[in-house]
Amino acid sequence: MIKKNEELSKVYLSPHYFDKITSLARLILTEVMQFRRMMKSEHICDSAACTSCHKPHIAKITEAIMQNKKIRFVLPAFPGKSPNPAKVLGHLPDMGEKKSLVFLNDLCERIQKIYEPGAELIICSDGRVFSDVVGISENNVTAYQVEIDQFIEDADLTALSTFNLDDYVVNNDFDQAREVLIEKYGQDIDTLKERVKKGGQDSATPEEKEMTTMYCGLTRFLVEDLSFPGQTRSRSSIQKECKEKAYKAIIRSNAWTDLIAEKFPEAIRLSIHPQACGAKKIGIQLLGVEAWLTPWHAVTVNTGNGYILMKHAEVQKLNSKLILDEKGRPCHYELIEESSNRPAA
Ligand SMILES: [Zn+2]
Repeated sequence: MIKKNEELSKVYLSPHYFDKITSLARLILTEVMQFRRMMKSEHICDSAACTSCHKPHIAKITEAIMQNKKIRFVLPAFPGKSPNPAKVLGHLPDMGEKKSLVFLNDLCERIQKIYEPGAELIICSDGRVFSDVVGISENNVTAYQVEIDQFIEDADLTALSTFNLDDYVVNNDFDQAREVLIEKYGQDIDTLKERVKKGGQDSATPEEKEMTTMYCGLTRFLVEDLSFPGQTRSRSSIQKECKEKAYKAIIRSNAWTDLIAEKFPEAIRLSIHPQACGAKKIGIQLLGVEAWLTPWHAVTVNTGNGYILMKHAEVQKLNSKLILDEKGRPCHYELIEESSNRPAA
């Protein structure tokens, strides 16, 4: 008998059951897509309700709704601070991370207002996945991860949790953990190089385009990190090294993506990188506003009109003041208005 299955019986009892669920799923996706990041070169969808953008995700959301479960998101992000002091304040999370985590928790709470079971977001910190490639020490990755967890707890961001490579391979041999990851999920470097090449062509798929964007972005960040004052190496030698490192980091990152997909098959995949219309991932803003920098590659600056991200060296050229947090650690900058420097009339 059909009614044995409660979910199935609802379908037979109400011909509009699926329509209602689909509408709710679209509403949830529209809520998320308001804060999406899209590739600039792409046709920009004029609405967060774009059906092509929703299409790859709708089945996972309707499935969760039918089971009355939380909508689950995964976001590989928050790897650890860049090792370059010209970009960041130090190796620990600061205002940028805090603002981003609060924003992501708020996003889940917005969903709960329209869908009672709500949503949860798992931050899949990828620092340990490529720390050796990008030059972040293991200790700094650990300290950063601990602080992120602590802030989530202290600020009561109940929709957020973290998952990282340390949870997957439970021992302290991080090189071995990465080897295990690559052995199981790693792809061939020549195939990757071919995909990056294809991504620059008009006929490329959204995934190939994203791969190329990621490669260019990573190479740029790696070159920046080696272009510190006093560097004696030539620009071309640095670029050559960073291109190879970028491929290595992408292989690790893709392996991490595959592991996450296997571990959380029901989750909607978010990304910090801009995505094309109809992509399998949803590019998401971190501060609730569009910014091409991330908190771990920049410092947070209070302009008096909201918070923005800037490279450390750039804000130091401005009339600004370093603000410490409650623990006395450097946290963010505040721009000082020109008028406040003038003597009173
Ligand atoms: Zn679209």
